[in-house]
Amino acid sequence: MSDTIETHEFQTEARQLLDLMIHSVYSNKDIFLRELISNASDAMDKRKFESVKNPEFMDDGTELTIFIESDADERTLTIHDRGIGMSHDEVKDLIGTIAKSGTKEFIKNLQENKETASPDMIGQFGVGFYASYMVADRVELVTRRAGEEMATRWESAGEGTYTMEEVSKDEVGTSITLHLKPTDDEDGMQDYTQEWVLRNIVKTYSDFVSYPIQMNIEREEIERDEEGNPVEGAEAQKIITLETLNSMKAIWLKDKKDTTDEEVNEFYKHISHDWNEPLDVIRAKIEGMLEYRLMLFIPSKAPVDMFYRDAKFGVQLYVKRVFIMDDCKELLPDYLRFVKGVVDSEDLSLNVSREILQQDRQVKKMGNGVVNKVLDALKKLKNNEEKYNTFWNEFGAAFKEGLYNDHENRDTLLELLQCQSSMEDEGSLTTLQSYVDRMKDGQEEIYYLAGESRQAVENSPHLEAFKEKGYEVLYFTDPVDDIWLQQVTEYQGKTFQSVGKGEAELGSEEEKKEAEESRKEKQETFGSLLEKMKEDLDEDIKEVRLSSRLTSSAACLVQDQGDMTPQMEKLMAQMGQDVPKQKRILELNPDHPVLEKLQGIFDADQSSTELKDYSELLFGQAMLAEGGQLKDPGRFAKLVSELMVQAI
Ligand code: ADP
Ligand code: MG
Repeated sequence: MSDTIETHEFQTEARQLLDLMIHSVYSNKDIFLRELISNASDAMDKRKFESVKNPEFMDDGTELTIFIESDADERTLTIHDRGIGMSHDEVKDLIGTIAKSGTKEFIKNLQENKETASPDMIGQFGVGFYASYMVADRVELVTRRAGEEMATRWESAGEGTYTMEEVSKDEVGTSITLHLKPTDDEDGMQDYTQEWVLRNIVKTYSDFVSYPIQMNIEREEIERDEEGNPVEGAEAQKIITLETLNSMKAIWLKDKKDTTDEEVNEFYKHISHDWNEPLDVIRAKIEGMLEYRLMLFIPSKAPVDMFYRDAKFGVQLYVKRVFIMDDCKELLPDYLRFVKGVVDSEDLSLNVSREILQQDRQVKKMGNGVVNKVLDALKKLKNNEEKYNTFWNEFGAAFKEGLYNDHENRDTLLELLQCQSSMEDEGSLTTLQSYVDRMKDGQEEIYYLAGESRQAVENSPHLEAFKEKGYEVLYFTDPVDDIWLQQVTEYQGKTFQSVGKGEAELGSEEEKKEAEESRKEKQETFGSLLEKMKEDLDEDIKEVRLSSRLTSSAACLVQDQGDMTPQMEKLMAQMGQDVPKQKRILELNPDHPVLEKLQGIFDADQSSTELKDYSELLFGQAMLAEGGQLKDPGRFAKLVSELMVQAI
């Protein structure tokens, strides 16, 4: 054994998290055991998985089990596993630091809500191992990595530092010993050295874990005669038996009627590291050419990292009840990345690798089947408005990515789409079908406006005429909307039409004609003025014209039908793409008094510099009204002040 003991400091975030655990106010401390068992089970999955390539990792014939050992006198609880173990450096990296994205935000949230913090929060972030410090004031960990001779002993009281030293250990795997805090009924801390306490927790949280969770159970027995009566004068004897506490039954193999909601929810929590109940459960048994079972879940809350590029997602893949891998992305497209669960195949080979999965045609087919099951479930969920709204609010933004990624299911996805609308209050959603049902006579297009937020869109000048004439306009406010709206052009034969693009011809044929004529007349009156304004704004504007969409504002910016929206431009720039400068069209309200005034200035002096300032002001206003950014805010402010001086 080595006599060098290293002392290290926890990484800042790890330290903060530990501090929260030590001083935790969580009522349910029992969950620490589920975390440790889940880690043990993960580690054994890994050992099995790695032994496909390195058969020597398993050749010592050890049974993969979890063994719980408690000592009431010493007040210790030890969880032994035969998992993959950790090397010296792994212990440092995995236990001493937290490498997950979003940890900072998570800790901040926990710290701010200390009083109300619930175990959900811990679970959501899977800070599992540290949960030990809710019940222990010192934790020891001895671990030997498969393939290594020596083991590492780690120890910490959770306060700033930990120690490490090299030790020897007979078996590959990890043993974690908790030096338990004193029990305290008020604090909700049970006596975790008691058999029945441990048995209950295992049953509640870890029953379906696929490895035996074992414990030595001690009983007193008295010798009995053949009739079963105690033998006279015999002393009670202590008998110790090794008992398996969990049933290990794969819940996805059971029929619905043979499972309880609690059981299913616990299973969900186990595989998802989420502490909320799932929103929906999807079960299916597919038979025929390809055989597989699935039990999938739609969570009720989006994970913090749903839009992080490196976030893990995917289902767990099993082959004939044997765990193959976590986060199997090959069975779920990105836009369904929030779906959790298990797919258990009868056909794939046990040593199927990621590479094979990516090319395998069977896997592709299975993937299609899985997607269909999820979409079917969502169609059903739609009948429950409250649940479906929850689903949409949590996952809608990710789900919409499917509109441009999953061509095959586009029609279904459009049916499932929920939108905000000018006819609905904020918070209420509508479907495309309802929009089409409400369309006015003769209306051929689905009007929408995309923008940064409901507020920005709702108050946009582009909507004025639509609102006044009673046309419904859909609001799209997720960044992804601009992308799918470029590719999806119609629904039930009705084209999507942005109210910020092209001309806005509203009303009956007759009304349109009338409007057109009156516009032509005015165009003649203001024609030269508009030309002049275009020259003045040439750098940013490709046309200045009279508008049919404004009723109260003086000006707005629109685009030609095929032009890129400003949101799209921004998105592309964020992705590091070169975007050629897009010139917009400045539309002026022909009935606005400002136009007459400008005409007056123009008539008096065709090359007036004042006119140029006003053109700039109108352009700036229109930009601000749609939530855009001014090119030169300083100059705009100066022009406004000058104008005020003149007016006051
Ligand atoms: P998570 O399980 O969500 O990754 P934990 O805090 O529970 O977070 O564990 C951190 C990491 O430490 C695990 O990902 C794993 O790599 C390692 N680890 C924890 N417990 C064990 C164990 N019993 N055997 C091997 N590795 C473990
Ligand atoms: Mg864990």
